[in-house]
Amino acid sequence: MSSSDPTQQAAIDLSPSQLRIPKENTYFAFVLIVSLVVWVGLALTIIGIFYALFIGLFLWLGHGLLAAYLRAEAVRVSERQLPQLHATFLDVCQQLGVIRVPQLYVLQSGGLLNAFATRFAGRDFVVVYSDMLEAVGPDSPEMKFILGHEIGHLKSKHVLKQVLLAPGLFCPLLGPAYRRAWEISCDRFGAFAAQDMSGSLRAMLTLSGGKEQGRMLDAEVFASQHEEERGFFVSLHELTSPYPTLSRRVRELRAIQSGEPARRAPRNPLAYFLALFVPGGNFGGGGASGALIVIVIIGLMAAMAIPAFQKVRESSLEKACYNNRLMIGAALDQYELEQGQPPASFDDIVGEDKYLQAMPVCPAHGEYSAQRMENGYQATCTVHGSGTVKLHRH
Ligand SMILES: [Zn+2]
Ligand SMILES: [Zn+2]
Repeated sequence: MSSSDPTQQAAIDLSPSQLRIPKENTYFAFVLIVSLVVWVGLALTIIGIFYALFIGLFLWLGHGLLAAYLRAEAVRVSERQLPQLHATFLDVCQQLGVIRVPQLYVLQSGGLLNAFATRFAGRDFVVVYSDMLEAVGPDSPEMKFILGHEIGHLKSKHVLKQVLLAPGLFCPLLGPAYRRAWEISCDRFGAFAAQDMSGSLRAMLTLSGGKEQGRMLDAEVFASQHEEERGFFVSLHELTSPYPTLSRRVRELRAIQSGEPARRAPRNPLAYFLALFVPGGNFGGGGASGALIVIVIIGLMAAMAIPAFQKVRESSLEKACYNNRLMIGAALDQYELEQGQPPASFDDIVGEDKYLQAMPVCPAHGEYSAQRMENGYQATCTVHGSGTVKLHRH
């Protein structure tokens, strides 16, 4: 039985309320809890807020540039530009109940078959790569599936969640699992928009097998690849990837048709353990570039953290020394007041039953000396001097 068999064409047996898979909501709850804990934790440390703002600023700039690139370089689809594609897009938006129609762009991307959705400054963008458009045509059910999938991301506010839930998405195992649930849900949005199962499957198979051969692939055989190709490394790949494998996505799509949930093939338990050490790539869509960006950010944070922590440490030492000097000065003042003569040395004030139990020690190993000033004694540290402490001057 071929996937392009017209007898397979059937209306999609889904209601709009069934598009988001229950797993997505379950993972959302966990990701939300992790994110809230991390955000509150960051808010409690001044340095944390600083980092969050710093990283946020960079992400915002990068995003702004991406949106500008689309607006300036990609082809903006309208009634007058690629009108067939425009009409298909309006259809999809209507089918999925989208009131504020996002802006659709076609982007030349050197042969890549893909599409994505994003949002910047309150504007939604859907982008289809030109090769994808050429592969499936502007008014096919395949195109409806692809556009519907991206609209699914926008309807589910995945772009916003990617920012607000970044700490939870960064969490190993949980973050990628939540992201994979997004994709499975959005494939259901796509199938619902297309209202054509074989067209939806052909779109998925085009993503897998390419422009020419993809549509000829046998969906059933490809879906069974998910069960046949198992083992440790496949499991590790699945667990750390924010995208479900294409064979699994085909499997999930076919499951809509059968009305029964797709059974996910078992994974290697050791892969779960190793995946614990791979953070979810939330930046740049995961994968190698995402991992690289994470490494760069961690490096930047370390580079900023070391001097910042040194500064905090130094000022705490300075403060401790300042307290020592106040104590020494007060003890010397007290001695002169009670004894009627200036102390000859620190020995007069330090010791059992004297003014100080023990000589205070500068935490930076400075030596103390003291001088009689007009208004009392002033202690001086060889490291910190005699000035007032330079702390908390915001
Ligand atoms: Zn997607
Ligand atoms: Zn000192």
